[in-house]
Amino acid sequence: MSHYCVNCGAELMPREVEGRMVEGCPNDDFVLWRDPKVVTAVVVEADGGVVLGRRAIEPALGHWCLPGGFVNDDEGPLDAAARECLEEIGAEVEVTGLIGVYHIAKREAPSMVGVGYRARIVDGGRLAPGKEMLELQVFALDELPELAFPSHRQILGDFVRSQASREEEKPQRAGAGARRASRPSPGRARSPQRRRR
Ligand SMILES: [Zn+2]
Repeated sequence: MSHYCVNCGAELMPREVEGRMVEGCPNDDFVLWRDPKVVTAVVVEADGGVVLGRRAIEPALGHWCLPGGFVNDDEGPLDAAARECLEEIGAEVEVTGLIGVYHIAKREAPSMVGVGYRARIVDGGRLAPGKEMLELQVFALDELPELAFPSHRQILGDFVRSQASREEEKPQRAGAGARRASRPSPGRARSPQRRRR
């Protein structure tokens, strides 16, 4: 299939740039770079589970997925993630961490760089499906449904594993906290400013 220059409309010709064959304009410096697109996916924690949406659009109509989507040219991935959550699950979220960055290979479309975030719903926020979702549901981590996209499966799988390792660390932290809590607080106990009756 022929491609054309976005500057002058001329048909692009094969050109070698830094050892790679690409399509370039014979008249100017335009090159059709085959770059990956950047896409976000967000694991939103709520009520002890995670928020998933059932897709109202193709591809994968009717299947469950994470909220997320493509990053626009004029925004960073973090802002894109929050914007997509607002659009798709109707709630303002606070991104609380990065799960990972993933290469998503595609055969018949540009490949993607997927950025997986974890987030929580900002206090008082309520879930409402956007027009790209048929419904929303909070799933417990041990009752997750099959997801539409392999990349979402990978991101959610990495999230579940990170949660499991957090759970393992908990008893130690709880023990340390308990010791701290049980230690008497001399400052307060000896305070001369104790309220008189
Ligand atoms: Zn041109």
